[in-house]
Amino acid sequence: MKKLLPLILILLLFASCTASGTERTLYVMDTVATVKLFPENEKAADEIETLLSDMSDSLSAYDGKLKEINDTGGGEMDEYLSELYLISKRMCDATSGAFSPYLGSLIELWSVGEKNYIPADDEIKKALATKHEANANFSGNMLSLKNGQRLNFGAIAKGYATDKVRGILIESDVSGAVVSIGGNVYVHGEKDNGEKFLVAVRDPQGSENEWILALPLSERFVITSGDYERFFEEDGRKYHHILDPETGYPAESDLLACCVVSENGAEGDALSTALYVMGKETAISFWREREGFELVLIGRDRTVTLTEGLAESFVPNEEKEYTYEVAKR
Ligand code: AMP
Ligand code: MG
Repeated sequence: MKKLLPLILILLLFASCTASGTERTLYVMDTVATVKLFPENEKAADEIETLLSDMSDSLSAYDGKLKEINDTGGGEMDEYLSELYLISKRMCDATSGAFSPYLGSLIELWSVGEKNYIPADDEIKKALATKHEANANFSGNMLSLKNGQRLNFGAIAKGYATDKVRGILIESDVSGAVVSIGGNVYVHGEKDNGEKFLVAVRDPQGSENEWILALPLSERFVITSGDYERFFEEDGRKYHHILDPETGYPAESDLLACCVVSENGAEGDALSTALYVMGKETAISFWREREGFELVLIGRDRTVTLTEGLAESFVPNEEKEYTYEVAKR
């Protein structure tokens, strides 16, 4: 598998726990995952490791079953691919295409993070023309793709995987867990002293270990998208990995980062990407019309907007010069 080491870990974890636990670092889903379980539980850790390895084999557009399906224009979808395809289709509709699983050709054309390549306008137009939903036909468990369409679940697969990890944890005796897949975090239960885990959101303008605020959470997914995760610079311009499905170019968002605190991993992941593309005002309007998630929007103007569900509990890093505001329903 092509291992894309995350260029940054989006979130730092203050997951201190006095009791000894089980800790694993894994290379899965084209990134690095860390699993911390309290109290010690090797059996649950083994199950999680097997699950994530199987999911990578299926969902990776680089060397998973998905690549085969893309290369051959279709094929039989396994359980993970089928379920994730249907969730993705729903999230694509819900976000008016700002998150889209149909952008594989465009994503592979840019390949931000692997090469510093600015495609020509006509290449972008051609790749973008493949994105229409009607180019994919899913029936029974068979998918067929036409007109050069390729699927890509890079913006949702890690969140979806954490949903499945949660399933294992709920069935286990683990009383507290912090799972991070490429910086997308799920917190289960609580610390052994009964406190919630504190999840820190990284400062997008700082180094890997600098945080901007922390959130005490339980049974939540914390998923962030930002232009600082994978990018290159040319002629003083930054080209990053979150693409605007309207233009085919990196999204020109007024956000540095969009962090979604969600009750569902796959949805939170799709939303982090979509709301980053939409930008601050549209993201807040989107939140006002829906339930099940809260937002931390970090603007280029160094304003941090928290939606009201997080306003009471967040802990700002006093050393950082950001302005805070709260968005109400
Ligand atoms: P995330 O870090 O969750 O925002 O996902 C970003 C990754 O998803 C990129 O590296 C691309 O592989 C893919 N991607 C980029 N733009 C989009 C988009 N608008 N919709 C769906 N996937 C995207
Ligand atoms: Mg995402």
